[in-house]
Amino acid sequence: MRSLEKAQRDVLAGVSSLPVVELPVWDALGLGLASPVVAPHDVPPFTNSAMDGYAVLGADVEEAPVTLGLLEDVPAGHVAQQAVRSGAAIKIMTGAPIPDGADTVVKVEDTEPLPDGVRIMAATPTGTAVRPAGGDLAAGEPVFAAGERLTPPHLAVLASLGVSPRVHRRPRVAMLSTGDEVLPPETANLGPGQIRDTNRPLLAAMLDELGVEIVDLGIVGDDADTLRNTLEQGAAKADMVLTSGGVSMGEYDLVKIILRELGTIDFWKVAMQPAKPFAFGHIEGTPLLGLPGNPVSVMVAFEQFARPALLRMMGCRSVFRARAVARSAETWRTDPAKTVFTRVVTEIEDGVTLVRSSGAQSSNVLSALARADAFAVIPVGTGWVRAGDPVPIELFRSPEARTASEVLGG
Ligand code: AMP
Ligand code: MG
Repeated sequence: MRSLEKAQRDVLAGVSSLPVVELPVWDALGLGLASPVVAPHDVPPFTNSAMDGYAVLGADVEEAPVTLGLLEDVPAGHVAQQAVRSGAAIKIMTGAPIPDGADTVVKVEDTEPLPDGVRIMAATPTGTAVRPAGGDLAAGEPVFAAGERLTPPHLAVLASLGVSPRVHRRPRVAMLSTGDEVLPPETANLGPGQIRDTNRPLLAAMLDELGVEIVDLGIVGDDADTLRNTLEQGAAKADMVLTSGGVSMGEYDLVKIILRELGTIDFWKVAMQPAKPFAFGHIEGTPLLGLPGNPVSVMVAFEQFARPALLRMMGCRSVFRARAVARSAETWRTDPAKTVFTRVVTEIEDGVTLVRSSGAQSSNVLSALARADAFAVIPVGTGWVRAGDPVPIELFRSPEARTASEVLGG
């Protein structure tokens, strides 16, 4: 058996980052930066007001109350025509440029309007409510490193700089389910021995969350020619092919025969549970990941192999989920020969993250997977996990906290 770590190394080594493109910020979510971003100009680009109020000389408002003359009004997007001098103020809106001469903004709540001036009611220290040019980012400052994955706030920063990022192209991933017993999820009535395809909806949703394009190759029954054609087509169209089913050990399996015939594909036994059987290789240069058939194994294998590989293809420096340490609220047994991914529910009690099994741990039990928000990752050699033990976890979704009705009451 191959260790999980070795299997992950082999998969990562078998994929490379996709070509670089320059994309509008609208299209770059989730991709990795291909080159560092340096601020082309200051942000904010000009010194501006943090408040609605009056731009003044700080020296005039060290003590209050004081009366100042009013020179003009400056809404956001406009520039004052005059400079502020001692004894005078310019009315200013949040975000408008600070007029020449002024160094302080007195917020409107601390003032009273007069027919031809303003009365300052509160002493205001010099510099109050002034946002300096370059206070967020200065021209020439390094902003993001290459390999950083673009999140919504990253995109907002790039927008503020007017930068269209150079990123690695978004991968296209072809997916298919295999097996004569597998029918579309829309199937109303199942015949004897038939089940609905859970793996494509699961994969499609995970691929969607990751932000990659999907090429759906559908369900392929246990028929050699169809399988061969579909896989060849998928490999030609996509940057990665994901299959599920047909890779387990032992029995005669058509999928294995065709994969062997089409490319350089190896069949592994990984020392992990679930998702022990796994296939990896290339068809005409396109990486293929042969995931197991059982749906829980599909998710675990996706998380441990496909997701990191795709993030690498997307040019992201960090490709593995962060592991946190939680505390077990229960005692359970795991196979000490394997890295075991126990599906758990997390709960924060007195600031400590506790984990409990989310239900039956067989690799076909989807309901317990849907209840879980993390995998407890139990290392090889552990055996018993006891209540109170620290356990590494990988959160695959953020647990939700307060309910709307808690906040709204009633
Ligand atoms: P296999 O490795 O193809 O024998 O599949 C292992 C188990 O997963 C069997 O019980 C299959 O019926 C089941 N399975 C395979 N593919 C799917 C799928 N797409 N949706 C749901 N179950 C599947
Ligand atoms: Mg099968």
